[in-house]
Amino acid sequence: MTYKTHFIGGICAAALTSTIMPVESVVLTTVVSAVSALVPDLDIEDSKLGRKAGVVSKGISRAFGHRGFFHTPILYIVIYILMNMFLPKFLSLGFLIGTMSHLVLDSFNYKGIMWLYPLTKRHYHIASIKTRGFGETMFLIAMVGLSVYAFVKVGVATEPMNFDVNTLKNTFSVVVEDVKTLSSNVVEEVKVNLMK
Ligand SMILES: [Zn+2]
Repeated sequence: MTYKTHFIGGICAAALTSTIMPVESVVLTTVVSAVSALVPDLDIEDSKLGRKAGVVSKGISRAFGHRGFFHTPILYIVIYILMNMFLPKFLSLGFLIGTMSHLVLDSFNYKGIMWLYPLTKRHYHIASIKTRGFGETMFLIAMVGLSVYAFVKVGVATEPMNFDVNTLKNTFSVVVEDVKTLSSNVVEEVKVNLMK
């Protein structure tokens, strides 16, 4: 996946989870998430962030290789816990959402990532979308649409909310329901128009 896809992925993930963020920090958390979504690819020297990070990226890629330890959930969960202790919530939460979105997106590529590291070094993937291929473009478009939709629909809550699994579940079910309704409406419209 290209850095653009990951950047948009970070925004999309933040949009979908925005109800768990304090209202006043939705924008900041989203920005942190979008930038953090580029972090795992620091293990590629010639990635967007890798080139900027120069010697740091070189060290990481030499030490861990691409899609190695720098692409494992355990690493980012530990960093999140540490950040959460010392830094403002928008930084730690944005970082977690962004890096996790990266790992989820990379799982749509045949190389997969080591989800269960250190239990096993096996790479898991759920699809085989090619980088820079048609599939990735479709993904990008879908994520832009979903982000706009989620932000408009549920993103900006009227009151600050704390982390709550039920809120997160409700957000997803509302989005899923609405996407279902929207798509069935589109199908209906196409049918009606074809009958004419
Ligand atoms: Zn990656």
